[in-house]
Amino acid sequence: MDIFKRVLDRPGNIGKYMDTSHGYFAFPKLEGEIGPRMMFKGKEQLVWSLNNYIGLANHPEVRKADADAAIKYGMAYPMGARMMSGQTKYHEQLEQSLADFVGKERGFLLNYGYQGIMSVIDAMADRNDVIVYDSECHASIMDGIYLHKAKGGKSFVFPHNDIERARKMLGFATKRTAESKGGIMLITEGVFGMAGDMGKLDEIAALKKDFDFRILVDDAHGFGTMGETGAGAPEHFGVADDMDLIFGTFAKSMAGIGAFISGPTEIIDFLQYTMRSQTFAKSLPMPMVIGAIKRLELLQTKPELREQLWTVVNALQSGLKEAGFEIGVTNSPVTPVYLSGGIPEATNLIFDLREKHNVFCSVVVYPVVPKDVILLRLIPTAMHTVKDVEYTLKAFKAVKKNLDDGTYAHMSVVDQGEATK
Ligand code: PMP
Repeated sequence: MDIFKRVLDRPGNIGKYMDTSHGYFAFPKLEGEIGPRMMFKGKEQLVWSLNNYIGLANHPEVRKADADAAIKYGMAYPMGARMMSGQTKYHEQLEQSLADFVGKERGFLLNYGYQGIMSVIDAMADRNDVIVYDSECHASIMDGIYLHKAKGGKSFVFPHNDIERARKMLGFATKRTAESKGGIMLITEGVFGMAGDMGKLDEIAALKKDFDFRILVDDAHGFGTMGETGAGAPEHFGVADDMDLIFGTFAKSMAGIGAFISGPTEIIDFLQYTMRSQTFAKSLPMPMVIGAIKRLELLQTKPELREQLWTVVNALQSGLKEAGFEIGVTNSPVTPVYLSGGIPEATNLIFDLREKHNVFCSVVVYPVVPKDVILLRLIPTAMHTVKDVEYTLKAFKAVKKNLDDGTYAHMSVVDQGEATK
């Protein structure tokens, strides 16, 4: 069979809705300055779907640092991979500052978080080693584990945040590595990006009393939002020393691109020579690096940004709860709202939210969540205000009423493409 025909016959769980969703539910174009108010299809929307947690994306000092670095260095410098010709003192300075901040000895920059963490896992674990991981780990971690499995490596998964089952899996892993003479790495996240609940890093660290293993924590959503100084989920739990490797990305609080891994000097030295996605890929361009240095400085010196974020988070989450919305187990800024309904109801509800109320948030439907669940995901930021929250709560109450009384189920499903032309 022609492989082109084969892929077109099976376009994937999301791709199969492409005809009706493209440009509206998938690949929407948000235009204008990044912030709580952006344009979508010519109309201003109150936007709750950007991970610009502490509002750095458009901070004037950030914009200036990015622009100055682009003028001074261009986007090309440095050329080549770090190992070959892409090393600069700024790359080194940034990774050391990041490591110091999260409480690790050394850091190394990663061009993208996704490929970066895959390569950390790939480089750390050989076929004799065993990976134990949380069932809700991000796709990038799963792909790292697939690489491990492709080498013949073994892995054990525990149900999300179920520490007793994690203990059991560590028991299996210990038996296995006694034979294989390998080591064990447990992988979890600081904050899980869908449900917003934190990984139980303290309880996982406590398992070290009973088992010999290392921990890799992906703190993509915790970095900049959690902990006394914003250093992340390990700081929140006071367990940075027990987290052997801490990963963070610049894609969320840092409002940039790139990522980092941090840990003991000798392990980071090892990783910088062995991570395939970094060894065989171009170094981060200078504006990204100098821009990230500025972002980190602001993140560390302007706690008021994080305070404002949490003011908005608390107002939103308590307002939703008081209004009877189900927001699950979040204890981070990530705010999921669980509603009952299928894809037709979700389609009409989102359309109403955007077209009638000018509120823009992301929606997650089956197969990511069960068939009868609609998950709306709100990301509060330091740029939002309590007024924005009040407005949004009103809009949410209005659409929930229509959902509950069956209006959305009985309406014909709008063809977004046609309706918004
Ligand atoms: N880990 C988690 C938990 C994430 O949410 C993401 C997505 N940003 C990544 C890794 C990948 O990071 P990046 O966007 O820097 O590739």
